[in-house]
Amino acid sequence: MLWIELLNSEWRDWKGDGHLTDKLMDLEWRQKFAAQLGWGELPYPSEDQVEKLVHLRSELHNWARHLQQNSGLTLDAIERLNGWMAAGGYRKRLMKREERLVLTEETLLKNWDTLTAAFADSFAQFTAEGEPSRIKFCDNPNCLWVFLDETRNRTKRYCDDKLCGNLMKVRRFRAKIKTGAKPDEQ
Ligand SMILES: [Zn+2]
Repeated sequence: MLWIELLNSEWRDWKGDGHLTDKLMDLEWRQKFAAQLGWGELPYPSEDQVEKLVHLRSELHNWARHLQQNSGLTLDAIERLNGWMAAGGYRKRLMKREERLVLTEETLLKNWDTLTAAFADSFAQFTAEGEPSRIKFCDNPNCLWVFLDETRNRTKRYCDDKLCGNLMKVRRFRAKIKTGAKPDEQ
């Protein structure tokens, strides 16, 4: 999902101290990112466009937290989200495919502004049709990777059990040895 991709453009040193690297500030990475999302080879964004992207990301971060904590979106947040989407340059088309009618959406103009709007659009669609209770932030406080928990009981705690999951297990184990508790007790 586009909005999750945007949130995860903040990379943390999950194995270490959680040091943050903002990949949106990495010129090469940013260009590749847009291309991978289907926006092709865009000209470099202006400072103002980068600022907007970063701003939207922090708003989406806040709102995703709200949704995750079940507090929903305020009217003000909804207004702001609508504002972000207003720059979207796409139109819908009804098409016939093998006797079936399908509604497609095509982006008319691919630039940094329409990509920014598309991130907001993807989040808005998720709030209306998705399941907010699936939003998770990795339980490793030095990672905080955003993902959707697809387990039935919403029990997934880490972005990756083999990576952050194991790391946290080792940390708990060490903490217990330090305090003199039996390490085999979870
Ligand atoms: Zn993680």
